[in-house]
Amino acid sequence: MREVIVAEEGEILDVELSENLLKMNEELASKNRELLKKHGIKSVEIMGSIGSGKTSLIAEMVKRLKEKYRIGFIAGDLTTTIDSDRISKNGVDVVQINTGKECHLDANLVMKALERLDLEALDLLFIENVGNLICPAEFRLGSEKRVVVVSITEGPFMVVKHPFIFMEADVAVINKIDLAEAMGIEVSKLEKDALTINPRIKVVKTNCRTGGGIPKVIEALGL
Ligand code: MG
Ligand code: ZN
Repeated sequence: MREVIVAEEGEILDVELSENLLKMNEELASKNRELLKKHGIKSVEIMGSIGSGKTSLIAEMVKRLKEKYRIGFIAGDLTTTIDSDRISKNGVDVVQINTGKECHLDANLVMKALERLDLEALDLLFIENVGNLICPAEFRLGSEKRVVVVSITEGPFMVVKHPFIFMEADVAVINKIDLAEAMGIEVSKLEKDALTINPRIKVVKTNCRTGGGIPKVIEALGL
C-alpha cells in the first residue's frame, strides 16, 4: 500500500506570514536591482546544493574576467568563511553573510551587503547563495541573472525534483561531467529535464575543477 498526502493551499502553517514575507522581499529585491543598475553593475546570483561547485564556478569565472571587470562578491553561508576567503585571494571585494540557521539569502541581507561594498568601484557582482535548491527559488535577491548549479554526483533526479529553481534560473550548469560515466548518469537526460521545465534556460556542461566549459558559462551570461 502506498499513500500520498498532498499539502493543500493554506494547509501549511504560516502561509500568510510567508506570503507577506515574500512580498516584502520582492520589493527589496527591486530596490537592489535598481541600485545595481544605477551603478552600471552587472550581477549574477549562483544557486545550488552544498558541494555542487558554486564557489569553484565563481573562482573560475573570476580568473577569466578579472582583467575585464572590477568584481565584487557576496558570499552566503550558514557559518563558515571558506568560500569568501577563497575568492578574496583574487583581489575581489568580498562581503560575507553568515545566515546562522537561515537556509537562504534574502533581499534584505543582500541590501545590507551592498551597503558595505564600494559600488562606484565595481562593474560585476557575483552573489553565492546558501547551499540549497529549495527556498532560494522564491527569494529573489535583485540580481540581473540567476544561475543554478547541479553536479553529476547528486544523482539522476536533481533536476526533476527541484522544478521551481530551474523555472527561475537563466542558466543551468551541470557540473562534474567528468564523473558521469563512473556515476552512471546520462547527462543528456539532465539537460532534457531542465529544458522541459524551462525552455528558455541555457544549459552548460562544466568541469569546474579543471575549468572545462567555463567560457561557455561566461558566454551564456553575456559577460
Ligand atoms: Mg560554496
Ligand atoms: Zn531557506
